[in-house]
Amino acid sequence: KTPPSESRFEQVLSTAHALYKDVQAGANADYIPALAKVDSNLFGIAIVTAQGKVYSKGDVDTEFSIQSISKVFTLSLAMEQQGADAIQEKIGVNATGLPFNSVTAIELNQARAVNPLVNAGAMATVSLLDGDTDKQKWGSIAHWYNDFANRKLTVLDDIYKSESATNGHNRAIAELLKSYDRFYADVDLALDVYTRQCSVGVTTKDLAMMASVLANAGVHPITGKKLMEPENVSRVLAVMTTAGLYETSGDWAYQVGLPAKSGVGGGIIAVVPGKFAIAVFSPKLDKAGNSVRAQLAIDYIAEKTDVRIF
Ligand code: GLN
Repeated sequence: KTPPSESRFEQVLSTAHALYKDVQAGANADYIPALAKVDSNLFGIAIVTAQGKVYSKGDVDTEFSIQSISKVFTLSLAMEQQGADAIQEKIGVNATGLPFNSVTAIELNQARAVNPLVNAGAMATVSLLDGDTDKQKWGSIAHWYNDFANRKLTVLDDIYKSESATNGHNRAIAELLKSYDRFYADVDLALDVYTRQCSVGVTTKDLAMMASVLANAGVHPITGKKLMEPENVSRVLAVMTTAGLYETSGDWAYQVGLPAKSGVGGGIIAVVPGKFAIAVFSPKLDKAGNSVRAQLAIDYIAEKTDVRIF
């Protein structure tokens, strides 16, 4: 099939925005106090194609915290550094089927294998990155995210402070993994770097740009820079497909049929391999922690552009 034409993309984005802008279901995340203060009505939709063309509609230039979507990019970095086997052996790649901050997931699994796209595995992934200083670990993450976004991103200080003051549960998870020898750096260091990566400010356009590298087999569509090996992109997309929307990842694959990743800031990215990436932002979340409007918009776009991969 030929990819949808320019006007077709614009039309589909406008219609998706109009259809779902008044949906009021769900609620902002509030376990991180600063997230509760974000304007619930914000709604942005962006597409970046594998050729680097950008389409957008709505509040696409408003910055919000990347939250769990960061896990995709830190996983990508760790995989490039340590190889795909290290991720499978030292972290784990099976879906937990449980909420993103589950302790039970660690306790139930005899191998203590977790998943890089939920909190436990994402913090373990930070611990696995090269270097044992904040400068090395955070420096490589910041540089990596900037390469994907093709601009210099910054940490949203209010989110970082709010999340740092309330991340005791994540600390407990990291300590638990450490007690099972499944954590590979100092807990305080990795927890802080993880908290900072979740607080990085992105726009909907930034997220679509970042995800377009995954749609383009690891090469940045704008800069032409090769950021990832194509086989690592495939593996990241596999983990997104099975675990990108936490315990409702199966429903998502069944209904929408695209690798995707959500964050409690209200963003979701979805990747159509070889064609384009979609990013949608709207803060109100369902019970699993996935943006309600973003799920609706991506499902609509996938249907209208006929890109479901299953
Ligand atoms: N920073 C958040 C946390 O650690 C990320 C969770 C998410 O987006 N699901 O809880």
